[in-house]
Amino acid sequence: MMRNRKRRIGVMGGTFDPIHYGHLVAAAEAVEEFGLEEVVFVPAGQPPHKQPEAVSDAVHRYMMTVLATVANDVFTVSRIDIDRPGPSYTVDTLAELQRRYGPDTELYFITGADAMSQILQWKDGASLFEMCHFIAATRPGYGLMGFKKALGPIAQQFKDRIHPLQVPALAISSSDIRHRIRQGRSARYLLPDPVWHYIMKNGLYRWPNSST
Ligand code: ATP
Ligand code: MG
Repeated sequence: MMRNRKRRIGVMGGTFDPIHYGHLVAAAEAVEEFGLEEVVFVPAGQPPHKQPEAVSDAVHRYMMTVLATVANDVFTVSRIDIDRPGPSYTVDTLAELQRRYGPDTELYFITGADAMSQILQWKDGASLFEMCHFIAATRPGYGLMGFKKALGPIAQQFKDRIHPLQVPALAISSSDIRHRIRQGRSARYLLPDPVWHYIMKNGLYRWPNSST
């Protein structure tokens, strides 16, 4: 039935400092809802909007992303942003992934609705809509209004490429997890066990200067 359709690959970019169930639930829902063949998690090398000293080493963030996704056959992790020098711009990531997967692949960039509202501030923001589809994770019960407003005429122009997706675990965030650990509170049920153990074993997020 859908034999002639291009294959759909999901792309989940992020700092993943640390990766948590919000990211994983959003990716899993996107697979089911849009028939994605694979979701590639792409930890940022140097996130453009964050101070380098406020972000954990790329090696830790990469390792945690691998640990979190290892049991899922359709989740993979790419080093492309980590291995590319300089700030990690999504426009470069998407161009490189499209080149690797080839013209028979459509990329679906998965992002939280919060990040979706800021896309026009990203490098070559408007041109991203020509490069991929967007799956925007929203909180159940909330519609498209927030980021539609932020995107202005772009939202209308590319409405066939912007897909909202309701995600139940949207309240989880990496910053809240870091904050909890620094305060000695538990975060272990907000992320997969192996990631929790990795954080404890390496003493991540305990000190005020590591990240906020
Ligand atoms: P921080 O709190 O440090 O900003 P974060 O939890 O937002 O971290 P990121 O690595 O910045 O995690 O996010 C990567 C991508 O995942 C972004 O597109 C973000 O909007 C999305 N995202 C983050 N948390 C969730 C969540 N709970 N559910 C769905 N998507 C999420
Ligand atoms: Mg964020």
